[in-house]
Parts: sequence; C-alpha cells; structure tokens
Amino acid sequence: MKADFKHDILKSTGVHVDKCYQCGKCSAGCPLAEEMDYPPSYVMRMLQTGNPEFREKVIRSFTIWVCLSCETCYARCPMSIEIPRLMDYMRELSLSEKKTNPKAREIISFHKSFLDSIEKTGRLYEIGLLADYKVRTLKLMQDVQLAPAMFRRGKLNIVPELIRDRKRMSSIFSKTLKKKK
Ligand code: SF4
Ligand code: SF4
Repeated sequence: MKADFKHDILKSTGVHVDKCYQCGKCSAGCPLAEEMDYPPSYVMRMLQTGNPEFREKVIRSFTIWVCLSCETCYARCPMSIEIPRLMDYMRELSLSEKKTNPKAREIISFHKSFLDSIEKTGRLYEIGLLADYKVRTLKLMQDVQLAPAMFRRGKLNIVPELIRDRKRMSSIFSKTLKKKK
C-alpha cells in the first residue's frame, strides 16, 4: 500500500499530487509556513516523488499539525490543489499509524477535544472543550483568570447548546470511523 500512496491520496481525497508544478505560491502565502518543518510546496514535492521515506517524513512532520486549514494555499494555487484536504488526510494517517510528531502533542489534544465536543453536542461547547483539553494536557490552571471576564461578556455558556438531531451527528462520526477501518 505504501509504495502506491499517491493512488491512495487520490482515492481518499481527490488530490492529484502530480498536478503540482512547484510554483511555490502556496508556501509564499501560507501564514504558518515559518512555523512548519516543511512548507506546503515541499510537502507536495515529497509526496510527488512516490518515495515511501518521504511519505514517512510527511506523516511524522509538525507541518500537518500546524496547518490551520485556512485554505489560503488552495485559493492561491493555479492548479486548484486542495492542500488543506491533503493535510487533513495526513493527520488522520499520522494518528492511525501512531506516528505523530512529539512537538504536536498539545495541538493533537485540542484536535481531539474539539471533535469530541462536536460529536456530543453537534456544536462547539467551549467549557466542555476547555475542560477536556486541560485534562488531556494537565494544564489545569492555564488561562483560568480569563474565565470571569469571558462569562461577563457572554462568551461562555454553562449549559451546552445542543442540535436537535444529535443521532444524525453520531451517525456521521460512526460512518467516518468505519470508512477509516
Ligand atoms: S491551509 Fe494550511 S498549508 Fe494551506 S495556507 Fe492555510 S495553514 Fe498553510
Ligand atoms: S501553489 Fe499549487 S502548483 Fe504551486 S507549488 Fe503550491 S500546490 Fe504546487
């Protein structure tokens, strides 16, 4: 499977990595390129080679976790390559193959807390998300002093807002998980 990962990428995301002609516009516009170990155009080049070693480097990179999915790269790309979708796919591979970058531990905790909140309530429940994130990272007191001001301004709801059809949300999550297996 690993030798044919360009095909896997295409099948799972619709992204044709060979369409990239290395113009570099994605990297030039990416707001987080400086924080990444490989900017997006490098990621494209590594994947284009079809070399399993480069696949491994991408999956273990910090880049895939720093990407905000802001879509600036997609908007700038003359070939309309959906890099954010590719990054998302690489994050899922990184998690499922247990090859996450150690520097990304807190980002991954946030990612999991965010998805749990959406799965349970259908919306973003900020207090639940923060509590879950703090337990995962053990940063229990960090930023606690901001909470009273946020309450006063109505930025935090004690009771979560729930969507009506939560069963449907659960079924989206379970279908997605089944697809990944
Ligand atoms: S989606 Fe990710 S890679 Fe693309 S510009 Fe935004 S942060 Fe950079
Ligand atoms: S902007 Fe598009 S074509 Fe240019 S390097 Fe990035 S992905 Fe490749």
